[in-house]
Amino acid sequence: MAGLYIHIPFCRKKCHYCNFYSLASVKYLDSFYDALLEEIYIQRKYLEGKNIQSIYFGGGTPTFVNPDIIRQALQSISKYYSIVVDPEITLEANPDDINNSLLREYKDIGINRLSIGVQSFFDDDLRYLNRLHSAGQAYQAVIEAKSAGFENLGIDLIYGIPTLTNEKWAQNLEKAFSLDIPHISAYSLTVEEKTALYILIQKKALTAPTDEQMIGHFRILQDKMKEHDYLHYEISNFCKTGYYSRHNSMYWTGEHYLGIGPSAHSYNGVSRQWNVNNILQYVDLIARNDRFYQTEELTDIQRFNERIMVSLRTMWGFDLNKTREEFGEEVASHFLRSASRYINSGEMVENNGIYTLTDAGKLFADGIASDLFLESQDSSQG
Ligand code: SF4
Repeated sequence: MAGLYIHIPFCRKKCHYCNFYSLASVKYLDSFYDALLEEIYIQRKYLEGKNIQSIYFGGGTPTFVNPDIIRQALQSISKYYSIVVDPEITLEANPDDINNSLLREYKDIGINRLSIGVQSFFDDDLRYLNRLHSAGQAYQAVIEAKSAGFENLGIDLIYGIPTLTNEKWAQNLEKAFSLDIPHISAYSLTVEEKTALYILIQKKALTAPTDEQMIGHFRILQDKMKEHDYLHYEISNFCKTGYYSRHNSMYWTGEHYLGIGPSAHSYNGVSRQWNVNNILQYVDLIARNDRFYQTEELTDIQRFNERIMVSLRTMWGFDLNKTREEFGEEVASHFLRSASRYINSGEMVENNGIYTLTDAGKLFADGIASDLFLESQDSSQG
């Protein structure tokens, strides 16, 4: 099994917190279309021997571009790649773009899952984030998507926004439950360097998020999701039975994937590669049939550390027996030694050789994972 990700690097406007590669301009749209279709052809052998079970259009803002490019990309993918009979085909959608005729067009193209970037159902939070849509549009977008027949539907929410009180955060979650949305991703607001948010906080034009607020919101999130029978299958992802994201789950369980478009990443079990994150270079290198990506061969240490990092975030957990078979007894012993303090503190539990984080441990997932890492060493890059 494998996944295919297509990066559409255009947005109407940059959100303050955004750290993804995207341009608030359509200046290079036409040349991007040509390069994208060309890359789909060029990379046709990357997943050879694997069946694609998920195709994901992300960005950027896929709903900002003409749906014809989505249609053409899908036609090209089905021509050159091997795909299972019932693939999950997801499109990220922004509430301000969604309307009934566009949604029907996506259905017609073959999109069978929508992920809507709601972020909050309150206008002041959306203003803090510099999102283009309003709370009313966010609500309406979900209603429209449901009435267009998208029952496999997810929304993204952000917590830890300084304008978002505990009460408002609980109301955001209640709103999502009342809309009967089967998949909810909830991310903590992170302030990445070089983003507008970072600069505005440095200039004291905006308030910074606090750890106390994040922790409080995460606890509310865990409680509310349990109350409403959502499965907490990854630190930031919750779903009703059967509605987990097949695409993202492949990233977390070590399956192979190919990323197409500027800045997209790929993984084939032995190496990672990432495309140039500059649209002009991307278009130019592809037109000249030149190399548009870098590759890094992964060492055993890197593969082990990555497994720790992603597996502990999921309900499927870290499989010690599989790790012992693959990496040997010494690595397994290292894990057991380092994990014991988290077992003793009640932040991690073991069941038949599978290690998972408890609710208390999930709060500190990244810190716990990095404590369990093997010491890293240099890897070859090319
Ligand atoms: S819509 Fe998404 S990709 Fe575009 S600027 Fe906002 S957060 Fe970034």
